[in-house]
Amino acid sequence: MADQLRADLLSLPPDALGRVLIDHFQARGQPAYRAGQVERWIYTALAPSIEAMTDLPRAEREALAERFMLSEAEEATVAKSQDGTVKHVWRLADGELVESVLIPTEKRLTLCISSQAGCAMGCTFCATGWGGFRRQLSAGEIVAQYRASRRWAEANELGPVTNIVYMGMGEPLANRAAVHDSLTILNRGYDVGARRITVSTVGLVPGILELAERPEQFRLALSLHAPESDLRRSLIPLERRYPLPEVMEALEHFNEAGGKRITFEYTMIAGINDAPELIEPLAELARRVGAFVNLIPFNPIPYQDWHASPPARIRAFAAGLERRGVTAAVRESRGRDIDAACGQLRAHALVHIEGTRG
Ligand code: SF4
Repeated sequence: MADQLRADLLSLPPDALGRVLIDHFQARGQPAYRAGQVERWIYTALAPSIEAMTDLPRAEREALAERFMLSEAEEATVAKSQDGTVKHVWRLADGELVESVLIPTEKRLTLCISSQAGCAMGCTFCATGWGGFRRQLSAGEIVAQYRASRRWAEANELGPVTNIVYMGMGEPLANRAAVHDSLTILNRGYDVGARRITVSTVGLVPGILELAERPEQFRLALSLHAPESDLRRSLIPLERRYPLPEVMEALEHFNEAGGKRITFEYTMIAGINDAPELIEPLAELARRVGAFVNLIPFNPIPYQDWHASPPARIRAFAAGLERRGVTAAVRESRGRDIDAACGQLRAHALVHIEGTRG
């Protein structure tokens, strides 16, 4: 049966999945516990297919596969960095390619996932921005990156994935329905704590406000990159539609929603956004919403003749922020040798991972 006619079980939030499965098995005169069996295969065993759910009778597996499918991602390539970072390129059912990255640190294994194939935002410092938009990912295709990465990490003795960041290809808040469902699925289905999941945005105000409404304490990272609208507009075209003052109001609202942590990402580009005069306005914005600031040395990408700010300049920025009462960290680039670092991956910025505490 063609896949478009079958519902994707990976895209369904846990409540909906339970209902759909109970209805399905009831209609077939099967006991209700069959639904629980399938849920365990999906959430606990990470079964790669319906066929693999071997404690269901064969006839039940076949009947289930007639109506449903699992939108698993197929590994197209995998590259390992000398620093332990692992980049996967996944092939989706229609041939689209998306990337995810595993970043091991001493205490954590962070997974960076993509929410869109390509990206329409056109940020000038990001290779995805230069590549343009391909299509939205479904919730199942987002979750599939987590499932496949977890299997890979376990098979390669990297241990369990502890944190997830939506910082791969795409602007997550431009794909809200699928991203919200995927957050629910990862949190309630796969039991990843909300505080261990960070959504990164370049400032889509309606999406920030919607995320603020959620009762779970998902974290938010704003790709800031400039503390003033004029400069920011030259790096992030979306600034024209949602100027910084509006974005800051939305962040204040997010902050007031209680216990929700905000991080600012600031890619430091020599001669572009690293003037010492920018420290004060940056500190002011961070103080307003209690944001932690990640300073990320720019990674070279094609089409842009920019360079990272010199290390001394970056350290001075960090010290200037600290003096003004703002917690800041300089992030080492991870995975540069496999094009898995900030912007190179065609991503928001992978290096901010350390700032996403859980
Ligand atoms: S930085 Fe993020 S929002 Fe901007 S173009 Fe790259 S992927 Fe899209």
